Amino acid sequence: MKIFSPAKINLFLQILGKRSDGYHDLITLMCCIGLYDTVSLTFGVKDIAVTCHHPVVPEDDTNLAFGAAHLFFKTLNKNEGVKIIIQKQIPVAAGLGGGSSNAAAVFLGLNRYYGYPFSTEELMSMGLSIGADVPFFIFQRPAIASGIGEKLEAYQNLRNLKILLVFPGFSVSTADVYKKLNLGLTKCEKKLKSFLLNKQRFDPRCHLCNDLEAVTASEYPVIKTIKEALLNHGALGALMTGSGATIFGLFSDSNAASEASHALFRTHKWKMHLTDMITQGTGYKIQDTGYKI
Ligand code: ATP
Repeated sequence: MKIFSPAKINLFLQILGKRSDGYHDLITLMCCIGLYDTVSLTFGVKDIAVTCHHPVVPEDDTNLAFGAAHLFFKTLNKNEGVKIIIQKQIPVAAGLGGGSSNAAAVFLGLNRYYGYPFSTEELMSMGLSIGADVPFFIFQRPAIASGIGEKLEAYQNLRNLKILLVFPGFSVSTADVYKKLNLGLTKCEKKLKSFLLNKQRFDPRCHLCNDLEAVTASEYPVIKTIKEALLNHGALGALMTGSGATIFGLFSDSNAASEASHALFRTHKWKMHLTDMITQGTGYKIQDTGYKI
């Protein structure tokens, strides 16, 4: 079984506060995008094994895809194995949710192979113990997530904008960013108040906001440079996703996005990727939502 496992972006991410268990309560609008890892599952083997030819992705039981398979079999009370091969296209530790997406792909793939023993809600609750973003990837629709990311509400008011991703070339540890976060300095509350109250249509010109951006940008000023360059080359808005360091620019059409990418490559040689949001269904359920099985 071959599963295309999508990346996500956070269109806004507001941190509400720190909880007694160390996690942060947040509210975030997430959407899958057309950048995929490939997760291949081979059945009929005794143990769980993961192969991934990427220098920083573990191949042992700390790989989130391994954790997902282990939990699935344990909950199903089956002593079975699966061979998981991950081909990474999604940059690692870049705020694009690659590891969580791979874990969700394994849950969805195994659930299908074993004849749907678990409901989506059950898979999402298993997913939460692997990572806060895993329930979102299992949910398979643009969503506003709250709590630590586990409370999901579908959000249907997104325009399918074109996306130019810019990778600054370094990875960021999510845990370190949260450690450095000063809740007294966060700014998204004001910007998002009316949007969240009225659930109005998402507008890339005024609702893009990420409370983690200033933390990562204080260490890596290039983030600000990239945002300014995207805005100067026609982006409707630009933002860092998750804890960084990937920056995305939103464009109304692919010509504008492609022109910006050529101009930015000429002047800065940044690594980039042109793609779009996965917002609407096309009638083919799994493909609609990002996971193509
Ligand atoms: P998060 O915000 O959850 O840290 P991210 O999108 O910034 O997510 P990921 O690409 O998911 O980052 O990687 C985070 C860490 O998880 C990496 O340091 C990596 O070693 C580890 N990891 C474990 N399993 C995987 C996987 N299947 N793919 C990518 N990274 C994985």
